[in-house]
Amino acid sequence: MRLVAAEIDLAALAYNLAKVKRFAPHSKVMAVLKANAYGHGLVTIAKHLADADAFAVARVDEALALRAGGLTKPIVLLEGFFHPSDLPILLANNFQTIIHDESQLQALEQAELEAPIATWLKIDTGMHRLGIEPSQFTAFYQRLKACQNVKEQVNLMTHFSCADDLESTKTELQMTLFRQLVAEQGESLCLANSAGILGWPQSHGDWVRPGLMMYGVSPMLDKIGQDHGLKPVMRLTTKVIAIRSIAAGEGVGYGARWQSKSTTTLAIIAVGYGDGYPRHAKQGTPVIIKGKRYGIVGSVSMDMITVDIGDNHQGITIGDEVEMWGPNLPVEEIAQCASTIPYELLCNVTPRVSYEYS
Ligand SMILES: *Cc1c(COP(=O)(O)O)cnc(C)c1O
Repeated sequence: MRLVAAEIDLAALAYNLAKVKRFAPHSKVMAVLKANAYGHGLVTIAKHLADADAFAVARVDEALALRAGGLTKPIVLLEGFFHPSDLPILLANNFQTIIHDESQLQALEQAELEAPIATWLKIDTGMHRLGIEPSQFTAFYQRLKACQNVKEQVNLMTHFSCADDLESTKTELQMTLFRQLVAEQGESLCLANSAGILGWPQSHGDWVRPGLMMYGVSPMLDKIGQDHGLKPVMRLTTKVIAIRSIAAGEGVGYGARWQSKSTTTLAIIAVGYGDGYPRHAKQGTPVIIKGKRYGIVGSVSMDMITVDIGDNHQGITIGDEVEMWGPNLPVEEIAQCASTIPYELLCNVTPRVSYEYS
């Protein structure tokens, strides 16, 4: 019997991709699949994104895994390549690379390649993570245009730091700076991640880069995927493996972090941080059993969690299914209960969880 399952709804995935295209009808879609497709399973997810125009990943290994899985669409390396010796691999596998600094540009200029590589010049308009300074743009652009190892078209990209916050003025500033720099060249432009797609229509360039929203989850502050008409792709479930009564005043779990105020009933469920459930989920973080919400109590253990199901627990029995997050329990809400973001919870699902695609 399977205990912990990540049920992946492939129809919801396709639905969300179609939704991306409705939000950004004039843009091509670079589907972001880094970190094992946000914990959903890299190759299977990619195979069910037939309508995407390209894929994007963070690491060369992720891109190679897509090719090994038989995927043939263009793949963009969001951090570029990491060593000059990567360049023949990029060429052989039709990977497109971000260029975000001088060392990458020099490596391209000095390489001896049999054919040119497709590039995306990344400009730092305020995120201050990767990207060239706006003042460096003209020089970089001209050198890329002149470089034999670079394809004729040099695509242009930037990344938002605050697009999840509609009140922030930062996104407008970043868009303005970017557009001022790149207005003349007539190259393909790409700015928007999920938050840009959902919250900033003016940011939809020739390409968009959705990650989280494809998985049905909202990147916006205080919103959930359903608020945007998205459908959650992952449903994380486990089973009740024991039910027991506990007297008033007894401590539960490691460190006895929770004491029962009155006599109550506990359901022990078989999931923990060893499966990727957040150890810092606060007391009362909801789970769903038989259609009803109950709160977790005590510490999250590696393999188990205790749930207070109270005295009137409506026939809950061993073997009953428990939803940890999914269509009935937004992962955004669980993330908030654990003082983190839904991205982290999805990425953290561990390999011992059984993945079920339907
Ligand atoms: C991860 C990433 C994305 C996707 O972000 P979401 O918020 O998941 O849509 C887009 N662009 C870059 C550069 C990224 O690193």
